[in-house]
Amino acid sequence: MTGALACPLCGGANHASTGLRPSSRYRPGTRFEIVRCVACGLLMTRPRTAPAELKAYYDSGTYYSTVEASRGGSHDGGWLAGLRRDVRRHVVHYYYARPGAPARPAAAVWARLARRRFGWAPRPLPGSRLLDVGCGDGAFLLDARAAGWDVAGLDISEHAAANASKLGLPVAVGELVDLVYPPESFDVVRLWSVLEHLLDPLAGMQEAARLLRPGGWAILQVPNASGLAARMLGAQWSGWDVPVHVSHFTPATLTRLVAQGGLRPAELHHTSVGTMAPTLKVSATAVGRLAIALADQILDAAGLGDCIMCFARKPAGGT
Ligand SMILES: [Zn+2]
Repeated sequence: MTGALACPLCGGANHASTGLRPSSRYRPGTRFEIVRCVACGLLMTRPRTAPAELKAYYDSGTYYSTVEASRGGSHDGGWLAGLRRDVRRHVVHYYYARPGAPARPAAAVWARLARRRFGWAPRPLPGSRLLDVGCGDGAFLLDARAAGWDVAGLDISEHAAANASKLGLPVAVGELVDLVYPPESFDVVRLWSVLEHLLDPLAGMQEAARLLRPGGWAILQVPNASGLAARMLGAQWSGWDVPVHVSHFTPATLTRLVAQGGLRPAELHHTSVGTMAPTLKVSATAVGRLAIALADQILDAAGLGDCIMCFARKPAGGT
């Protein structure tokens, strides 16, 4: 048991080791420890990655290309990436478009099938504002803007933000807690694959809550450290992604983080994005892809998916 650093969620100083995880992508041959806070269960990477080191990883081509590949970014090629783009656009349009915007019946079918994959929120009123934290190359922002939102983006990667800016999107470079947006200036704040990168995820949640108008929604997605893939694959599970992922969540710790950050968790879903595929090296074949896709559906239904998605609302009376 070690007590080197306080837990960012509960302040607890006692941590128990859960073993070592290899850093295959960033520092081959190096292993990092994952410790569990004895008091609240939050999992953390040790040693903590220095902010300057994290920034160097984000600015590297390795991180950017991996993120865009996993998100089906707008610069991907291939039929699968094209299909994912189309489905994402249908989801965004169906759930985010302003009332009165036409939605084709086929789009509605796609959207209902795939909403957990890409996230959704109640439709906005005219003038509604959406902030996408960790927006990457802006693929989601483009779709949200087309659906009628007044959008803003933020990414720590200068490379990603520059690409988003080329598309005419208002994207800032930096971290959420460092940029000063006016309070209550957004109706939706989306943190998709973001919280696991934060050394202080509670500060990030509190900032998201501050930026939301009363009644506004936060849309969160993180890898699920208690999902079946994490349990079965152990140290090889790609969701650990040390040392870039510094905080690791379960449904219990994510729910606690949201509540402590000043928001009310409204819905929690499991979703799988095929994080088993790169580890098992089966995604290259059509049969392998199909098997992974089927396994994903079963795991999601069983509540053991690779990722957790949470919709949380800011109380109407303020935080
Ligand atoms: Zn703790």
